[in-house]
Amino acid sequence: MAEVILRDLVKTYPGGTSRATDEVSLEIGDGEFMVLLGPSGCGKTTLLRMIAGLEMPDAGQVVIGDRDVTYAEPRNRNLSMVFQSYAVFPNKAVRDNIGFGLRMHGVHADEVARKVDWAADLLQLTPQLDRYPAKLSGGQRQRVAVARAIVMDADVLLMDEPLSNLDALLRLSFRAELKKLVEELGTTTVYVTHDQVEALSLGDRVAVMHEGQIIQCGPPTDVYDQPATEFVGGFLGSPPMNFLTGVVVDTDDGPRLDLGGQSLPVPAALSPHTGKPLKLGVRPEAIEVAHDGASVTGELQVLEPLGSSALLTTEVCGQTVKVSAPPAFRADPGGSLNLRLPDDACRWYDPETSLLLEVR
Ligand code: ATP
Repeated sequence: MAEVILRDLVKTYPGGTSRATDEVSLEIGDGEFMVLLGPSGCGKTTLLRMIAGLEMPDAGQVVIGDRDVTYAEPRNRNLSMVFQSYAVFPNKAVRDNIGFGLRMHGVHADEVARKVDWAADLLQLTPQLDRYPAKLSGGQRQRVAVARAIVMDADVLLMDEPLSNLDALLRLSFRAELKKLVEELGTTTVYVTHDQVEALSLGDRVAVMHEGQIIQCGPPTDVYDQPATEFVGGFLGSPPMNFLTGVVVDTDDGPRLDLGGQSLPVPAALSPHTGKPLKLGVRPEAIEVAHDGASVTGELQVLEPLGSSALLTTEVCGQTVKVSAPPAFRADPGGSLNLRLPDDACRWYDPETSLLLEVR
């Protein structure tokens, strides 16, 4: 095991108009599970490939353990990798697929057999050891790829969208298995995904990337609860965070966000924004449909029963607000709903910079 330190990594591909990674720095602790999360093209695979040594940075440094490996060959970095296309060898039985890397490293046959049995047991592949990949399900094939990676005793495990070829149900069960496995192994892991649920469920920390930069890095609950920018609030969560834009006005009751016909209280700390636009961010599940003590009135436009909740699309002063209500909630579209936005669930953003504002 080892820590991984990335310092100011810059990468521009030939012919690329912008940097694929733009001075990215990140410290991944020994044994930590770090998820790189972001939309397609944000640079997460490029970052992973620079850790792996499959891509050379234009500038910056990659340190694994106490070694600067920025320009080292992949085989000299003591890493294991699992990719989206799980590339198992079709003409080798599961046993030989899992042991392949060990044999290439000249490990003694007894030791290869011991490790293959160990990994097969951990990944519930023992009954399939003598089968060929064509006879396996997608989930089993992906487990073979993971088993092949973990037998290598690498310092660092790199995974690039390893679950994305699995169907929704398999993804869910394999996600939990993977989390348990990596916890047991305690190997430093860097995991790339564009799936925010996967990121929140797996990571000790999540680094949210956008346009070649890490926008925010922290434990999943922190990143979800206190998105550092509007982008993070809008990327994490399904449905994402609501944003309501208004202008701060001074009233006898203190500063308020004027939405044009309705207003909401603004924390006193933000009174210097009086006369300026401000954005309120609030998660759909934090909004309550209230009988009294409502913050604003919304017009219900659509009610979608989703099984475990009812998703309401409402309009407040011409702006869309999504509300996650209890599953049994019923109301007729076109009617008015009293919406309560608890103070402690409200986040405030500067519309010019998109940055979260400190209110304490
Ligand atoms: P995805 O989830 O779609 O794989 P990503 O976040 O992993 O996206 P990267 O694959 O790292 O993003 O790509 C970052 C940027 O670099 C994108 O603009 C992409 O088009 C560009 N890029 C990636 N690989 C190459 C390449 N081999 N040659 C040229 N441009 C590339």
